[in-house]
Amino acid sequence: MKYDYLIVGAGLFGAVFAHEAKKKGKKCLIIDKRPHLGGNVYCEEVEGINVHKYGAHIFHTNDKTIWDYVNGFVEFNRYTNSPVANYKNELYNLPFNMNTFYQLWKVKTPEEAKAVIAEQVREVGVKNPKNLEEQALSLVGKDIYKKLIKGYTEKQWGRKATELPAFIIKRLPLRFTFDNNYFNDKYQGIPIGGYNKLVNGLLDGIETRLEVDFFKDKTELMSLANQVVFTGKIDEFYDYRYGKLEYRSLDFKHETLDMENYQGNAVVNYTASEIPYTRILEHKHFEFGTQKKTVITKEYPTEWSGNKEPYYPINDTRNNEIFTKYKALSEQDNIIFGGRLAEYKYYDMHQVIASALAKCKKIFN
Ligand code: FAD
Repeated sequence: MKYDYLIVGAGLFGAVFAHEAKKKGKKCLIIDKRPHLGGNVYCEEVEGINVHKYGAHIFHTNDKTIWDYVNGFVEFNRYTNSPVANYKNELYNLPFNMNTFYQLWKVKTPEEAKAVIAEQVREVGVKNPKNLEEQALSLVGKDIYKKLIKGYTEKQWGRKATELPAFIIKRLPLRFTFDNNYFNDKYQGIPIGGYNKLVNGLLDGIETRLEVDFFKDKTELMSLANQVVFTGKIDEFYDYRYGKLEYRSLDFKHETLDMENYQGNAVVNYTASEIPYTRILEHKHFEFGTQKKTVITKEYPTEWSGNKEPYYPINDTRNNEIFTKYKALSEQDNIIFGGRLAEYKYYDMHQVIASALAKCKKIFN
């Protein structure tokens, strides 16, 4: 055998696995069907700006081990995610906090804000929420729901809030401080110079082949290595024998604009249903860029079909049941399945790195 491991997928799971395997003296070949490394964290440089090709990626974690691990490959900046919502040209800070409540109702103290919310929740009078709309109304009342949740959520899921199950929204955190930092995590930032630096650091010295689809040459590729690490879709690996897992997808429309600063923030959410996209990203602000031009991306949530990218697993009962069957099957095989697509799980970056490191610890220690 030429390699110890054939790694299918050069996203974060595959890259971390390859790096750790190499440290243990193992020889790896990593392949990806895309023309670049990095999976969904890949950045394309346009006008000197690192464009997050597959949507905004903000690294955040509470885990110091993971933070130190990624900082070992690239230094991170102090970017703090503080998105703004645009509802019919009114602007609101997110996540819901004292700034938002002031913008909505001109209330200045936590006590006043709590009183407005309690009154609106009381007015709604929902006791046993039967759908997402009732659930949200029972948690935050009508104003926050109508202006900041309804349209955005309906666009995200492609369905009316009254047709979505209540469990999608378990809690809606309300912050009674003037704090626009979206994440509560201790560590947060963007790699200085973009995510490719992180991925290139992980894959330094590892053989890679791009634009190679595992399924086009499965037998030959598998014959190259002792073991396969698979980070693609698990249902595809097993020829969809228990049925297809479902996803939500996104279309990204990137535009270069001949101006320095389009919206003054990296992320602006569009929460009215009349606007077809959910967010506009302005990439230079992730890295405090001062370039003459700017690049923006509009994100349009879409249905997923075979030829679209599978971005978000839909972990409802039907899909979870199908996944459980594939998982049981995978446990009988000598293949390592990992990452967002193979585990059918919405992993954030720090979580997928932690999961790859845990897997490596089990195998190599
Ligand atoms: P991927 O990055 O999907 O990598 C899998 C790779 O396998 C892909 O490159 C694919 O081309 C390749 N592949 C699949 N099938 C085959 C095949 N048959 N042959 C060859 N190659 C194949 N996380 C955060 O922490 N913060 C964020 O702000 C954040 N924002 C996100 C926004 C969006 C829109 C999305 C979709 C995700 C976001 N994430 C975020 C999550 C983050 O992208 C993932 O945690 C991470 O990229 C998962 O890595 P992975 O290796 O599991 O999967």
